[in-house]
Amino acid sequence: NATRVAFIGLGAMGQPMAQHLISAGFDVVGFDLSKEARIKLDDAGGQAAQTISDAMVGASFVITMLPNGKIVREALLGENACGGLKQNAVVIDMSSSAPNDTRELGLELASRGLRLVDAPVSGGVKRAVSGTLTIMAGGEDADIEEAEPLLKAVGQQVFRTGPVGSGHAMKAINNFVSGAGVLAAIEGVLLGRAFGLEPATIVDILNSSSGKNNATEVKMKQFILSETFGSGFAIGLMAKDIRIAADLAKTLGLRLDALASTADAWDAAQKALGPSEDHTRIIRYVEDHN
Ligand code: NAD
Repeated sequence: NATRVAFIGLGAMGQPMAQHLISAGFDVVGFDLSKEARIKLDDAGGQAAQTISDAMVGASFVITMLPNGKIVREALLGENACGGLKQNAVVIDMSSSAPNDTRELGLELASRGLRLVDAPVSGGVKRAVSGTLTIMAGGEDADIEEAEPLLKAVGQQVFRTGPVGSGHAMKAINNFVSGAGVLAAIEGVLLGRAFGLEPATIVDILNSSSGKNNATEVKMKQFILSETFGSGFAIGLMAKDIRIAADLAKTLGLRLDALASTADAWDAAQKALGPSEDHTRIIRYVEDHN
């Protein structure tokens, strides 16, 4: 009589997260548009459903790990999707969605007797696989507490950020800072290279200096200078996250110049390269327009 969890979105992040839930003893019924992803879940000891509403039957929790909040909304509010859920079930949106839309979704789900927790993650595919994601959870304390065993199965640290939507706001802020860091590191290396400095040396010195960030520490050598571009995080998703942060600034009446220019650069890069390329390939975009 394990607790049943409907897991919608079994991609780069969702698949390993669902597998950690299975290992933790949850009864995971999953759905993804991709047949390959559904087969993977079956092979890992979960149960693949043929539709979203089938996945929800008898579930006490729903986890969504989908590309964006609009898709999450369609998944949850489409054709009686949630009809088979247990009464008073908790919906946990772990995607990186837009916070104002999440607030609205929370109200709509509440009118159907469902509770929403937004619990986006950071750490990338590597930490999804190791089950050590950082989780930022927004919602009622009691609802987050109920969701905590699931969150702890996929993550190492669960931060409570405040009411519904606040987790998603925090995630957008994180990815703005992260995406600005990637761009700054790449531009720094290209600038140094043009002057005659050695790229690997630049990275080493940044890492021993105040210019250090996650991109200089991890992404630069592992994915960018090596030209493997295999971080597992698509450029379209990064551009989406930073645009969410820029839109949020606008709705709050804040003029933030670095945020605006970072959002524009990632937008232009994902248009030039295509949204499914790895985000670390943004170096190609910067090189190409020079
Ligand atoms: P992904 O593209 O690998 O996976 C998304 C999955 O959703 C795909 O398997 C796709 O088939 C499925 N899907 C799309 N529409 C669907 C629908 N209507 N019904 C069912 N399935 C559908 O993306 P990902 O990298 O796993 O990212 C998922 C979310 O997590 C995004 O919001 C992303 O911004 C966020 N995120 C990603 C990373 C990362 O490093 N990849 C890190 C933190 C957060």
